[in-house]
Amino acid sequence: VNFTELGLISPLLARLTELDYQQPTPIQSQAIPSVLAGHDLIAGANTGSGKTAAFALPLLQHLQSDMSLAEKNGKGNYVSRLILVPTRELAKQVADSIKSYAVHFNGAIKILAVFGGVSVNTQMLALRGGTDILVATPGRLLDLISSNAVKLDKVKTLVLDEADRMLSLGFADEIAELLALMPKKKQVLLFSATFPEQVKTLTQELLNNPIEIQV
Ligand code: AMP
Repeated sequence: VNFTELGLISPLLARLTELDYQQPTPIQSQAIPSVLAGHDLIAGANTGSGKTAAFALPLLQHLQSDMSLAEKNGKGNYVSRLILVPTRELAKQVADSIKSYAVHFNGAIKILAVFGGVSVNTQMLALRGGTDILVATPGRLLDLISSNAVKLDKVKTLVLDEADRMLSLGFADEIAELLALMPKKKQVLLFSATFPEQVKTLTQELLNNPIEIQV
C-alpha cells in the first residue's frame, strides 16, 4: 500500500513526498486506517519503526476536519489531543516531528511541547487560548494543570507513547491523576516496546475494544 491508499489527505501527502517517505512502514500501514476510523489502538513498536507518524498523521487529519480553531478561540486553555511521553527529549522530538508533518496546514494547528527542567512561565504563556496537540511529560503537565495553565476536560484523543518507559520511570500515579481529569469518552492509542504486567493492566483499564498491532 501507499500513503494515499491509507486515506490521508493532500496536505499530509504533499509533506510525506517532500520528506521522501516513499511508502508506509508496517506500523503505519496497519495503524493509520484504524486510527483514522476512530478506533482505540495498542501497538507493540520500538523507536525507529515510524510510530510517531503512525499516530501523528491521523491526529492532524482529525484536527483538520474538526474546526479546532473555532472550538478553542475564547474558550480557555483546553487541549484537544494529548500525547504523554516519558522524557523531555522525546517530548521535543515528537513535537518537532508533528510540526514538520503539519507545515502545509499553514499554522492553523497549534502544536506545543511541555516538559520539566525549564522555566514554567514560557510554557504557561504558550498554552493560553488552547492547544490543538500537546506533547507532555506527566509531572510538568500536572504542575501546569494545578496553576490553571491548561485543562484536559476536552481531550478527544490521548496517546501514550513509550508506555512501558513511562511506567518504569514511576509515572503510574501521575498518569492516573491525569486520566481522572480527561473525559471518559475519548480515543486512546497506546504504544509500547514491551508489555509487562503494569502496561497490560493499564491497557485493560483504559482501552475500549482496541485494535492490536505488533511490528
Ligand atoms: P520513529 O520510530 O517515529 O521515531 O521514526 C524513526 C525515523 O523514521 C524518523 O526519522 C522518521 O522521520 C523516519 N520515518 C518514519 N516513517 C517513515 C517512512 N514511511 N519512510 C521513511 N522514513 C520514515
